Amino acid sequence: MNKKNNKFLSFSFAIREIMDDFRSDPKQYDLFAKVYSFLVGGKAVPGEEKCPPMGIRYGGIWYRPENLKERRFYNWHEFDDLLTQAFSLRSLSGEDIVKLYKMVFGVNAFIGNGPEEKVGIWVETEMERFKCIQCGHCCLNLYDSYCTTAHEEDLIRWEEEGRWDILGYIDGGDLWISPKTGEDVTRCPWLRKLPRTEKYSCRIHDTKPRHCKDYPKSKKHALRTGCKGFG
Ligand code: SF4
Ligand code: SF4
Repeated sequence: MNKKNNKFLSFSFAIREIMDDFRSDPKQYDLFAKVYSFLVGGKAVPGEEKCPPMGIRYGGIWYRPENLKERRFYNWHEFDDLLTQAFSLRSLSGEDIVKLYKMVFGVNAFIGNGPEEKVGIWVETEMERFKCIQCGHCCLNLYDSYCTTAHEEDLIRWEEEGRWDILGYIDGGDLWISPKTGEDVTRCPWLRKLPRTEKYSCRIHDTKPRHCKDYPKSKKHALRTGCKGFG
C-alpha cells in the first residue's frame, strides 16, 4: 500500500491556501456560498444577476445577513475582497479552519503538531493515489501550463545548465514564446507524442518548469482541470 502523502500546514498557511483556491477559480459559487456563510453567518446561496454599469449577467452569491430581510448580490469579482474581510473580522478556532479546509478541498484534515511542536493542521492530500498516465491533457489543453511566467529558479537553473534552447523560448520571463514569431506558441515546444501510443512525454522532463513539476497541486486541482491521474 502506498504511504500516505500527508502535509502539515500552519493555520495561517491553511487560510492562504483556501484564499488562493478561490483566487485561481472564483466561479465556485456553491462552495463560496457555503464558506462565506460559515465565516460571517447569515444565508448565502449561489445565483446570478445583471450587474451595472453594462447590465451583464454575472454569477455570484445572494447574501442575507442574520436577522435581516434584505439580501444583496455579490458577483464573483468581489469574492476575494469578501473573503479577505471575512477572515480578518472573524477569529477562527483551529477546528473552524480544519472544517473550512475540508469543505474547500474535499480531503480529510485534522489538528496536530508539526515540526518544532507547532500546532497546525495535517492534511491527507491523497496525492499517493496520483499516477500520471502521460495522457498529455495538461500540456495540450491547459493554456496556462505552457504559456505562463517562468520562476526565477527555473531561469537560473537553465542558465547554469547552459540550456540556451529552452531560454530561446523565453521572452521577458514569459514562456513559451516562439523565437521565430515572437508570439505565444499554440502548443508547448517540448511536448512529444510517443510513437504508436496515445501517450505523451516531455522532452525537458528533468528540468521542466516548476509550474509543470507542481501540477497538479492537489487532488482538487487535478479533478477540476481534467487530469486523469486519479483514475
Ligand atoms: S493530465 Fe494528469 S495524467 Fe495526464 S499527463 Fe497531465 S499530469 Fe499526467
Ligand atoms: S514543459 Fe513539459 S511538462 Fe511543461 S507543458 Fe511543456 S511538455 Fe508539458
